[in-house]
Formats: sequence, structure tokens, C-alpha cells
Amino acid sequence: MRIVVLAGGIGGARFLAGVRAYAAGVGAEVTAVVNVGDDIRLHGLRICPDLDSVMYHLGGGADPERGWGRADETWTVKSELAAYGAEPTWFGLGDRDVATHLVRTTMLDAGYPLSAVTEALCERWRPGVRLLPATDDRLETHVVVDVDGERRAVHFQEWWIRYRGDLPTHRFVFVGADAAKPAPGVLDSIEGADVVLVAPSNPVVSIAPVLAVAGVREAVAGGSAPVVGVSPIIGGRPVRGMADKCLATLEVPCTAAGVGGMYGSRGDGGILDGWLVDPADGDVALPGVRVGAAPLWMTDEMATAAMVRAAMELV
Ligand code: GDP
Ligand code: CA
Repeated sequence: MRIVVLAGGIGGARFLAGVRAYAAGVGAEVTAVVNVGDDIRLHGLRICPDLDSVMYHLGGGADPERGWGRADETWTVKSELAAYGAEPTWFGLGDRDVATHLVRTTMLDAGYPLSAVTEALCERWRPGVRLLPATDDRLETHVVVDVDGERRAVHFQEWWIRYRGDLPTHRFVFVGADAAKPAPGVLDSIEGADVVLVAPSNPVVSIAPVLAVAGVREAVAGGSAPVVGVSPIIGGRPVRGMADKCLATLEVPCTAAGVGGMYGSRGDGGILDGWLVDPADGDVALPGVRVGAAPLWMTDEMATAAMVRAAMELV
């Protein structure tokens, strides 16, 4: 069996650990198609927060407390950059993490596409699933905001980390999405999948930019594989992060039903055949979508694998 997962960073990484455990039990192969909209170049380095969150987490190198970045991290490079007054100072750039960005940037500058670079980095981390960036091309999430009385677009990272999403926010723009081609393997894996799972990742800034890559939404919506999503919202709240602020910008209610409705039914222009919600969210009805309930707290790999099983049983 072949399972494809659309994923963002931390929520995607935790979910993928459960998918990997489930897949080991049934002899399935897993491909993760990961968001690159958060990617940014800082201090000359190409940083891919979501790919790295997934790679470190599945490879056993992630910081369990922080959720992002490396375990046993130190911050000498960051403080030395600050001592030079080198902007931006709001981005957390750990010393161990810098090595990843150096290798990645060197390979990109030598002409390797991001997908090949990711594969090379995974030779060290052995995540146990195939990690594909949604695209090798430039795709960046920008956020249209009011800052200092002026309307402008800032990079998603600046909105998220520097401003904590705390600005009048008008919309999200996936710069480059129209021209971006799916990375090699993305469309083939979706077309050859037995099931496509949408991780409980941020629907607005993690999953939407993956679907925005030309042809990806069409492949998911029009493919033969059933598509099941898992809600990132439990009891009307995002488990962590600021999905509530992102959803509010789109005027989508921050509920399991709201996010399911945003993805929509495959029969009606959307992408879902199944939608898994937490029992805390009660009776969610989505026309044309089979809705199931199971505990959605990804407390550990086994709990998450049980969640994956419940998602698989929906279709
Ligand atoms: P990011 O790119 O690092 O922000 O991570 P993702 O977009 O992949 O995931 C963020 C989303 O994961 C948030 O909207 C959270 O609500 C969701 N999330 C985090 N932990 C859990 C969990 O234990 N269960 C569920 N259902 N969702 C979770
Ligand atoms: Ca992210």
C-alpha cells in the first residue's frame, strides 16, 4: 500500500511519526509532500522550516520541548550575528541547525534542486518516509498587513515570529505558486497512491500552499485515491500555533467543521472524502464527506498511529 501525506512542519512531523508506525504494521510505503511556503533566505542561507521540522523529528534529532529545531542546540552564531547588528535578529538560528542550512545552500548554489538536496540531507536523518518538497521552485507565503500605518506584504516568517500574527492582517499570498511546478515525484506519488492523508497541519499556511502548486490540488481532487483529512482544531482551538489567527483572516470559523468545510467535499469542488475530528467536537456534518471521530491528541507515536488507523478506516 502507498500512503501520501500532505504536511506542514510540527503538526505534520508528529502526524508522520504516527503514519510511519502505522505503515510499519501493514507494510505500507509513505511519501510526505511538505510545504515550502515558509522557506526564507537569511544571512545567505536557505532555510526550510517545515522540511527540517519533519526531517529532524522523524530522524530523532528534534528538540522535544521547543518542537522546532535541533535537540541540544546552542545559539552562538545567533548572538554573534546580533553583536554585528546583522538583521533580522528575530529569527531563531541554532548552531547545529546552521550546518543543515550550509549544506543545503551550498548544494542549491551548485545547481541541485531542493528535492535532491532534501534527499541528500535525509541520507543522514533516515526519516523512514520519502520527503518531497511540494515544489523545487520559489514559492513563498507573504502576508498583507498594516504596519506603522502602512499596508504592505511581509514574509510569513516575519508575520509569525516577529509580530506573532499580531497585526491587522488582510490576506495570505503564495508568491510564485502559479508558476511553480510540483517537485519530481509529487504528482506521480499522488497519482499512484492508495490513500492521500491531509495531516492536522495549519490549513491556511501549511496545507493551502502545498495545494496551490500548479497541478497538485487537481491531482489530489481528481485522483483515484480517497482523501482523508485530520482536524488540527480540537474543541474549537488549535492545539498549538496560530491557526485561529490564520482562519480568522479568511473568515473561516476556528472549528473542526469550519476547517473541514474549507477543504470541502471532493464531490463538490473540494478535496475530502473523509474528515476525522476529535470526539470533543461533537457531531460535525459535512455534505458529501464521511466524518469520523477519534481522539486527535498526538501525545505519542502509538496514540497517533491509532488516529491514522481511524482515518484509514473512514474510506
Ligand atoms: P508548523 O508548520 O510547524 O506550524 O506545523 P503544522 O502546520 O504542520 O502544524 C500546526 C498545526 O498542528 C496547528 O494548527 C495545531 O493545531 C496542529 N496540531 C499540533 N499538535 C496537534 C495534536 O496533537 N493534534 C491535532 N489534531 N493537531 C495538532
Ligand atoms: Ca510551517
